[in-house]
Amino acid sequence: MLGAIEAGGTKFVLAVGTSSQNITARRSIPTRDPAITLAEAADWFAQAGAISALGIGSFGPVDLDPASLTWGRITNTPKPGWADCDIAGFFMDRLGVPVGFYTDVNAAALAEYAAAGGVGGSLAYLTIGTGIGGGLVLDGKPVHGIAHPEVGHIYPRRTADDCEFPGICPHHGDCLEGLASGPAIFTRWGKPLSQLPEGHPAHAIIADYIAQACHMLFASVAVGEIVIGGGVANTPDLVERVAERARALDAGYLPGGTRHAIIRPRLGGDAGIIGALMLAEATGKG
Ligand code: ZN
Repeated sequence: MLGAIEAGGTKFVLAVGTSSQNITARRSIPTRDPAITLAEAADWFAQAGAISALGIGSFGPVDLDPASLTWGRITNTPKPGWADCDIAGFFMDRLGVPVGFYTDVNAAALAEYAAAGGVGGSLAYLTIGTGIGGGLVLDGKPVHGIAHPEVGHIYPRRTADDCEFPGICPHHGDCLEGLASGPAIFTRWGKPLSQLPEGHPAHAIIADYIAQACHMLFASVAVGEIVIGGGVANTPDLVERVAERARALDAGYLPGGTRHAIIRPRLGGDAGIIGALMLAEATGKG
């Protein structure tokens, strides 16, 4: 049996299964401070039965360098209490099993890539929720450089009707996450995007910023497909608006532009936890 954790800023999803195709039990717990949350997760795995490997897809930033002394840790997150949390080390100690560790978005990207049957060889997964993050699979492999990509922290060009709001990112102010994440939308307009009326300018503004990130991904790494998940992305028509706006931004320029696709997750809300199980599978095989 394999174990998996999708460690998010709002909730931890825990699962066990015989493979990434077969989840046999799952549980969701709220993300509180690390000591409480990690202990609650470890207790659940202890009750769920013996596992041979654990996969963790975590919110970040995280240290992914296997040669680093701080591998497997969340690094400088603004989330209170979680900076420098040794999340992979905690579970290796408590459960005594090997741990596969990656970002939540790269785990989701891997799962969506598999669900797509490896079509096109490349895929990006963007989550638009409490934060904004992006994972990349190129030639069938999740990729990162000296650290994992931070697509949520690019600076989009501001729309003409959204120049006043300073943004909420503690590092950058009006980066993509500072402008288009769930908390940014709530701070600016007092409601989640899904509760703002259809004609509200927020819908076009948010779609524009996300479309700019998609255009950047198409133009810089030439992914064939971008999958958009996360709580904000559940807003009706948002993904369709993003796709339409990204086509307008491309203006018929990019090679293969007509084949670029922007879609909702094939796996719905399960991409992250299935991807974490895939990490466990890969780790278990050594
Ligand atoms: Zn930022």
